[in-house]
Amino acid sequence: MSVISEEHVRGGSVFKDISADDDDWQPTEIESLCMNCYKNGTTRLLLTKIPFFKEIILSSFSCANCGWTNTEIQSAGRIQEQGVCYTLKVKTKEDLNREVVKADSATTRIPELDFEIPAFTQKGSLSTIEGLLDRAVAGLEQDQAVRAIRCLSTN
Ligand SMILES: [Zn+2]
Repeated sequence: MSVISEEHVRGGSVFKDISADDDDWQPTEIESLCMNCYKNGTTRLLLTKIPFFKEIILSSFSCANCGWTNTEIQSAGRIQEQGVCYTLKVKTKEDLNREVVKADSATTRIPELDFEIPAFTQKGSLSTIEGLLDRAVAGLEQDQAVRAIRCLSTN
């Protein structure tokens, strides 16, 4: 057992509970390079605590030049010794709107489709069930044209 509590190590107050009505708690803005057009865009960083999910770093990038945006979520807490398994039965279309906080170390499985998003293949995200599926589809479609050409040229 460590004598120093996690609270002291992490500085405690840097991470505040997530809240929509705290006006003077603003994200930190950093000017950063847009990976789409290579001009300057803005990254907003928010250190927060989501109940039952511990400390997280939310970062969102937006580029005023080309309109590219990107949102990412990273865990700032230590990896827990034991995982948990959450099961959601999607019965209606509305169930796809359920919000999900998914760490990059989490595995997503849809047994009915024999489909799995393995751990560390997607970045952590704050999204919905539909958003997770959209991302998986985009990931599978990525570079398919290039792969098809490669296949043709080897045959
Ligand atoms: Zn841009």
